[in-house]
Amino acid sequence: MNNNGYAGVGVRNLITAARKAGLNSTFSYKLLMNYGKRRSVVETYKVAKGVYLIDVEMWTRRYGSVYVVEGEAVTLVESGLSTSAGKILEGLAQLGFHRDDVRHIVVSHVHLDHAGGAGVLAKELPNAKVVVHKVGAPHLIDPSRLLRSASKALGQMRDAYGLEKVVPVAAERVVPVDDGDVIDVGSHRLKVIYAPGHASHHICLYDERSNGIFTGDAVGVYYPDAGILKPTTPPPEFDMDVAIESIGRLRELKASALFFSHFGMTRDVERMLDMGIEEIRRWGALIQEALSAGENIKRIAARLVDEFKEDLPFAPEWLSEQLAPVMVAGYVQYFERKGMLER
Ligand SMILES: [Zn+2]
Repeated sequence: MNNNGYAGVGVRNLITAARKAGLNSTFSYKLLMNYGKRRSVVETYKVAKGVYLIDVEMWTRRYGSVYVVEGEAVTLVESGLSTSAGKILEGLAQLGFHRDDVRHIVVSHVHLDHAGGAGVLAKELPNAKVVVHKVGAPHLIDPSRLLRSASKALGQMRDAYGLEKVVPVAAERVVPVDDGDVIDVGSHRLKVIYAPGHASHHICLYDERSNGIFTGDAVGVYYPDAGILKPTTPPPEFDMDVAIESIGRLRELKASALFFSHFGMTRDVERMLDMGIEEIRRWGALIQEALSAGENIKRIAARLVDEFKEDLPFAPEWLSEQLAPVMVAGYVQYFERKGMLER
């Protein structure tokens, strides 16, 4: 039950009815709430049959998506940052879902913008299990190592990732999965696709019913307003070859929709998967060349920021400025591991 005092039961029933009738419940909600005392509205979208997106406003609007898959065992895909729980709960209520009906919170990997919120959210969703790749599972139960590693990798972005608000998930609520496992939502079945590269334990989910893939960070960061994507290549685990291989595997699924964790949905599947591969390669070549020319990470990151400015003029500059050095550092560590840098 939602106790925030702005979405009464009557309104919620109407929304549920609207959703059952196949109407866009966000739209219905907004219409209805124009007559009420709304304090805030979370952006939610219906992106496929039985699949909804909550914009958790991760640092900015239209950057962090958490998905809700409708069924007997309502399932969340991603848990956002440790600070995202409020938006997610508000989004669930707005879409007409009851907290007790959420049975799974699946995280694509344990990075803090995907799993940082799992512990906080698990406390609010008492019947939900947290589903994660088996290699990531120990880090949700005891996040101390993860937090140390994140603190090192994130540099300036450390504060924005809500490190201090991360709480562990009780071991008995963590369900470790592996490639091929199926998460049964009821009307949807989500198949686990092991898709390493961004992180060694990264998974995607394939939903047969919508013929869609929840991509996590495996393909890149999608900017729906520009219709393009950019790689996401953080240290310490980014592996260029493995990431490209994983996108190749996703290609074989012949899906007709991609649901990005950053951000939104596209039906332009083949072009985006190809772009994911091309962009990872292009950045790799650019960064490797700059490094051999003696440029430092800061200088190379500035080039990426210029590229962001050009391609995504509407995106907040501070975000690309903070993310770019992290992405460059991911490539540098990868090249070092592969012995591809002469120093
Ligand atoms: Zn991410």
